[in-house]
Amino acid sequence: MNIHEYQAKAVLAKYGVPVPRGGAAFSPDEAVAEAKKLGGPVYVVKAQIHAGGRGKGGGVKVVKSLDDVKAEATRMLGMTLVTHQTGPAGKLVQRIYVEEGSNIKRELYLSIVVDRETSRVSFIVSTEGGMDIEEVAHKTPEKILAFSVDVASGIQPFHGRKVAYALGLEGDQIKQGVALVEKLYNAFTTEDMSMLEINPLVVTGEGNLICLDAKIGFDSNALYRHKDIVALRDLTEEDPAEVEASKYDLNYIKLDGQIGCMVNGAGLAMATMDIIKLYGSEPANFLDVGGGATKEKVTAAFKIILSDKNVEGILVNIFGGIMRCDIIAEGVVAAAKEVSLGVPLVVRLEGTNVELGKKIMAESGLPIISADNLADAAEKIVKAVKEAA
Ligand code: GDP
Ligand code: MN
Repeated sequence: MNIHEYQAKAVLAKYGVPVPRGGAAFSPDEAVAEAKKLGGPVYVVKAQIHAGGRGKGGGVKVVKSLDDVKAEATRMLGMTLVTHQTGPAGKLVQRIYVEEGSNIKRELYLSIVVDRETSRVSFIVSTEGGMDIEEVAHKTPEKILAFSVDVASGIQPFHGRKVAYALGLEGDQIKQGVALVEKLYNAFTTEDMSMLEINPLVVTGEGNLICLDAKIGFDSNALYRHKDIVALRDLTEEDPAEVEASKYDLNYIKLDGQIGCMVNGAGLAMATMDIIKLYGSEPANFLDVGGGATKEKVTAAFKIILSDKNVEGILVNIFGGIMRCDIIAEGVVAAAKEVSLGVPLVVRLEGTNVELGKKIMAESGLPIISADNLADAAEKIVKAVKEAA
């Protein structure tokens, strides 16, 4: 789960991380009221969307009067902001953040991520802040320092000194850098973040370190123990189908292809997507209904797949272990009857109660194409979609 920049800064501030003062606004008048509290003389008006690259797209403006705060707030609110991270459709700006201006001397980069290779928390830092870190990694990899923190011994002052040295900090900034690294690490681990990116981390004209931008992603599997974080969720920033799927505890991710997939087990779902590609088509989604799915869950999953206008065919691939094939069959039949099925449907069932499952589908009167194995199923759905087109 992601949150907005202003929310991320509020979370970090609780851990003593230095961030500029500011306030969120939903209207130009609110923006002016927030600016008045700050007092000026320089304000920064920032569009709040769950994507970076706002600066280049006109979503970050430094202004010097309340009139200009109002003008920029009026321009940004309601605009569709297109950045390299939003995709061509862009994102609607519904809230903005008004911050006190900072006197920037240097722009640096710092992020913390979970490194799956080492199963550790890793820091990535660079002197090249304010730019796309992917681009820095591509063009000047020598300007990036990455290291991981031993889980058992935790964050240590030497980690902070390593960061300070890599960033070329001097004098009191070194002390600030060491303290910052520890605070960010504590925030990261305590709040179960999966990603924390400060870009840019700046050195001000006064010689202070401050986090000018903040992006946080939280580990969805740990959200149950962070009710205050869950409250920050902005559903308008998420794909409606994914929001619906999360209500039923389904692991659903929308993709751009034509073949909708309903599978149990993440590994099987990945394999199903691969084999669809092998037979010359593209998956429309990743969907793992999980091990103990109910008929209601399967019905919801089926409806979510069908709500995707790009779906030209559906492949159901179930290995009934804990999950019984007859439950899946009932769910598929119920959903297909409820939402008139306008596209070919191939079902491959294997495992517990497979015969009963097949019988339920055969007797449903629905034009379900049955398949015996994964390759057969993929071949059949790709062929059926081609023929239907
Ligand atoms: P992003 O483009 O979505 O990553 O948004 P950022 O919050 O990183 O802002 C983009 C850029 O705007 C930064 O890299 C800075 O160069 C600039 N910027 C942001 N806040 C200030 C500020 O207070 N003063 C000045 N002078 N520039 C700022
Ligand atoms: Mn940024």
